[in-house]
Amino acid sequence: VEPEATPTDAVREEYENLVDLVRKYRFAYYQEDEPLVSDAEFDELFRRLEEIEALHPELVSNDSPTQEVGGEVSAAFAAVEHLQRMYSLEDVFSLEELEAWLTKASASIGKLGDGSQQPAWLTELKIDGLAVNLLYRDGKLVRAATRGDGTTGEDITHNVLTIKEIPQELSGEGFPAEVEIRGEVFIPSQAFAEFNEALIEAGKAPLANPRNAAAGSLRQKDPAETAKRPLKMFVHGIGAREGLQARSQSETYDLLKNWGLPVSPYSEVLGSLDEVLDFIKRYGDKRHKLLHEIDGIVVKVDDFATQRALGYTTRVPRWAVAYKYPPEEVHTKLLDIQVNV
Ligand code: NAD
Repeated sequence: VEPEATPTDAVREEYENLVDLVRKYRFAYYQEDEPLVSDAEFDELFRRLEEIEALHPELVSNDSPTQEVGGEVSAAFAAVEHLQRMYSLEDVFSLEELEAWLTKASASIGKLGDGSQQPAWLTELKIDGLAVNLLYRDGKLVRAATRGDGTTGEDITHNVLTIKEIPQELSGEGFPAEVEIRGEVFIPSQAFAEFNEALIEAGKAPLANPRNAAAGSLRQKDPAETAKRPLKMFVHGIGAREGLQARSQSETYDLLKNWGLPVSPYSEVLGSLDEVLDFIKRYGDKRHKLLHEIDGIVVKVDDFATQRALGYTTRVPRWAVAYKYPPEEVHTKLLDIQVNV
């Protein structure tokens, strides 16, 4: 997009209103785990904000929502600094946009190397849950935190310790003295349905949806409450890792699996745009038959050296992109019952 002339008063006003709305919706979503609008509605507002900023770069300030990873730290939790920053993901909403993104990224990667090869694309499901950062020191889980604003997260160690699948001690060998493992905590679709049925039978209000239920479960004050929720996690990234013997993210997943961490069975390393498009179609067809809810697909450059060369903006890595499936009508038997998290 080519920048345009000075914004009119009407554009300024629209922009300021959008910034306020995005902040308000982010607060309800991240701090209160109770969204006020659908994700599709939120994404549309955010897109419009990005569009206005692309046309009028002079409007962009450092604290614009587009420059920040959404989510502050609630006073209800102790604040912890991540050793390495956590990021959000750049979204695309159509296959054409995804194709353009991958083509452009391939071209810049081509310029970095000999230009002869398509990069290997690590293609994963975008799990609709809550990001956590696990810090292991000498193989022992010493801290778990939410993403927060990317630099500072909320200390949820006690709650994470109730998730059986997350090892309190790594097995095997070869792990760095200090390593940050990033993943998504979620409630499996089947367990979510059963948990809600039990709540209804007990005369209680069911949980609204698996994503907010996972986030609400993990951000409880009382770990005994978290322990009652059927939470699981899949790893999708790595932060501080000095001394890690791996050249790519997929190679790292193999190591993490050996150390006892839950790695997603759905990730694939693909060599071409056509294969990525086929992956999107395959999982689009069966998205409601999977272990967990997904809201899209994440495509990442697999090779670590290339990831480093591409780097980050203030909000997202330049080596990954999230394709969002088009929004669907929500069908639920529970529509006329009051819901909460
Ligand atoms: P995001 O959810 O679009 O992408 C980043 C996150 O994806 C990561 O932090 C990680 O937790 C997660 N993720 C899941 N699977 C992954 C994988 N395989 N690899 C890497 N990361 C993976 O960005 P965001 O900044 O967390 O939040 C934006 C999302 O939240 C949008 O979907 C938006 O619609 C929603 N949101 C909704 C509201 C609302 O009011 N409804 C408000 C704010 C945000």
